[in-house]
Amino acid sequence: MIIIMRKDANEEQIERVKKEVRQVQLRPFINPGVERKVIAVIGEITLGKVALMDHFAALEGVERVDPISKPYKLSSRDYHPEDLVIKIGEVEVGGPEVIIIAGPCAVETREQIIETAKAVKAAGAKILRGGAFRKPRTFPNSFQGLGEEGLKLLAEVREITGLPIITEVMSPEKVDLIAKYADILQIGARNVQNFDLLEAVGRQPKPVFLKRGLALKIKEYLGAVDYILSEGNPNVIVCERGVINFDDEMRNLPDIGAVAVLKRETYLPVFLDPSHATGRRDMIEPVGGAGIAAGADGLMIEVHIRPDQARSDAVQQLWPEQFQEMMPKFRAVAKAVGREL
Ligand code: PEP
Ligand code: MN
Repeated sequence: MIIIMRKDANEEQIERVKKEVRQVQLRPFINPGVERKVIAVIGEITLGKVALMDHFAALEGVERVDPISKPYKLSSRDYHPEDLVIKIGEVEVGGPEVIIIAGPCAVETREQIIETAKAVKAAGAKILRGGAFRKPRTFPNSFQGLGEEGLKLLAEVREITGLPIITEVMSPEKVDLIAKYADILQIGARNVQNFDLLEAVGRQPKPVFLKRGLALKIKEYLGAVDYILSEGNPNVIVCERGVINFDDEMRNLPDIGAVAVLKRETYLPVFLDPSHATGRRDMIEPVGGAGIAAGADGLMIEVHIRPDQARSDAVQQLWPEQFQEMMPKFRAVAKAVGREL
């Protein structure tokens, strides 16, 4: 359930409501950064829900209590009606500007990551991506990433270019190490329901970029987001990256509809990754553009200084020139839907 406070409710009244919630062994969460305070009540309520709702509704400063029947709560727009804007350095994710995250699938060499970063920055990307520690690969003989060396290179490139960096974390034990270097922690499609990992990133302060799983319903996906939020970290970005496909034209099926549904259901910034969703560099432009048209707050795109020599995802990574030529097209779509880029 959620407890919607009156607009003029004061701190003392809010504190009293939170105390009453704790008194019945439930956890109160307050929506961050919005004018009207909404308190989400988290925990298992088995008996007496109606009586409990009446009890909370009668407290001073409370406007009304809604049951919220959705299985996810903290990621729901009911709890937080306004869009959340996440500040990462100078970059505002979830605001009017569509944010492009670009960079290679994996950090491979110093020269590769520096040159790619400079190229994507010049083309208008605002955040640099690169897998390091470690890459989720289907087969153990494939390149697994450079490990901490890759993280150090990313941090060096941030110094050189000023671009914030995002990289993937695969296990709870690595969270502290990766958070030491990265500005945003990525959790990939394969780990979207690794609940220990979700809780571990929820307990640290860096924003989290959580990708949807290949066969995960949106409800289940937002349930995964709730695992992070319920540990106290309010800054989560969600990302559609394609789902299981019956056709083999593309690596996955880009679920553009999911972008629109997510924008409606959650207040968190919503991204689309047309690179992993399609697995084809010639599909990045149409599918990425469709994502922006559907309301995406940003795109994540793989760009490599020499994709033909890439050690992973070679066929989907863009040459910097291709990325540069694509950006004005994305800008035009963004403008058409009332956004900046
Ligand atoms: C990635 O972005 O590097 C990646 C592995 O993507 P996904 O988890 O979506 O497969
Ligand atoms: Mn990749």
